[in-house]
Amino acid sequence: MDNCLFCKIIRGEIPSKKIYEDDLCYAFYDINPQSDTHFLVVPKEHISGADKITSENSALVAHIFEVISSLTKELGLSSYRIINNCGEGAGQTVMHLHFHVLSGKNLGERLV
Ligand code: AMP
Repeated sequence: MDNCLFCKIIRGEIPSKKIYEDDLCYAFYDINPQSDTHFLVVPKEHISGADKITSENSALVAHIFEVISSLTKELGLSSYRIINNCGEGAGQTVMHLHFHVLSGKNLGERLV
């Protein structure tokens, strides 16, 4: 999508600290980390949010969770939190489906 920030990052038009990519997804460090380790994993296909996940594209989400499982092992993260914000009222600021992966000493038990 032309004007989407994460599509631009995936295309290399905006720089990012890439961790991983394959045909289906792209992982990179968050520019404004909320914990010791904070990265994002996004599908390369533009899907605006979790509310647009259907039986047609849900395999992408399964793939992203496999990638997260693998990347966190490679990064030596034994505990981590996966977050998706869906909709402005839930804090979604970039309308391209993405999963936050956070890890570090400041992660408490509270979700909100
Ligand atoms: P959300 O608020 O759930 O939509 O998350 C969007 C995330 O994208 C925020 O945590 C931002 O810090 C992050 N972000 C915004 N611009 C960039 C960028 N250029 N590179 C990496 N992360 C970004």
